[in-house]
Amino acid sequence: MFTKLIIASNNQGKLREIQQLLAPLNIEVLSQSALNISEAKEPHCTFIENALAKARHASLHANLPALADDSGICVDALEGRPGVHSAYFSTMDNSEPRSDVKNNAHLLKMLNNQTQRSAYYYCALVLVRYHNDPQPIIAEGIWTGEILSAPRGTGGFGYDPLFLDVASGKTGAELSSDAKNKISHRGLALQMLMQKLTQLQ
Ligand code: IMP
Repeated sequence: MFTKLIIASNNQGKLREIQQLLAPLNIEVLSQSALNISEAKEPHCTFIENALAKARHASLHANLPALADDSGICVDALEGRPGVHSAYFSTMDNSEPRSDVKNNAHLLKMLNNQTQRSAYYYCALVLVRYHNDPQPIIAEGIWTGEILSAPRGTGGFGYDPLFLDVASGKTGAELSSDAKNKISHRGLALQMLMQKLTQLQ
């Protein structure tokens, strides 16, 4: 097994959650920005393909194993949008800087007067041991919930203030990070990844 792993992301929210979840493993975890690696292009229409592209890019430039997360929120009334475009939903033409606040406002506008509010977060994790790894390790997770009509809570990141976990009655931004990690799309995907990694050893 490897002792160093690059996380192919510059998203601080994701990095925090992934680093917390990987802490029990005896692996040195580095972010790609710490190595001045640029962000990879994400041209694909599926999360898995984008995660694979990001992992390969980071592994090629760092010459180390790399783990990428491609994730987003899929809203049923919007036929799965924003999906792979979640990070820049309010600025699809790339005219303005990305912002969680603007994305959330845009989502509320798109769902104005809509009573069907079901949605789910999806996370694809892809780990490559070398950039041309013929057998990437792939794990997925889904977290179902509903989109509220106004934000609640101050934790988490992205769409968390609008995303209601129905079972707990709390938004992603009201859950503690430990509670979110136990049920979230990313937490579940990491559990699956850990199982697959253990089988490798
Ligand atoms: P990516 O960097 O292209 O994978 O974009 C992921 C985007 O999906 C983030 O910028 C958020 O907008 C959204 N997202 C993914 N996971 C979460 C989460 O756990 N909470 C809130 N928003 C998330």
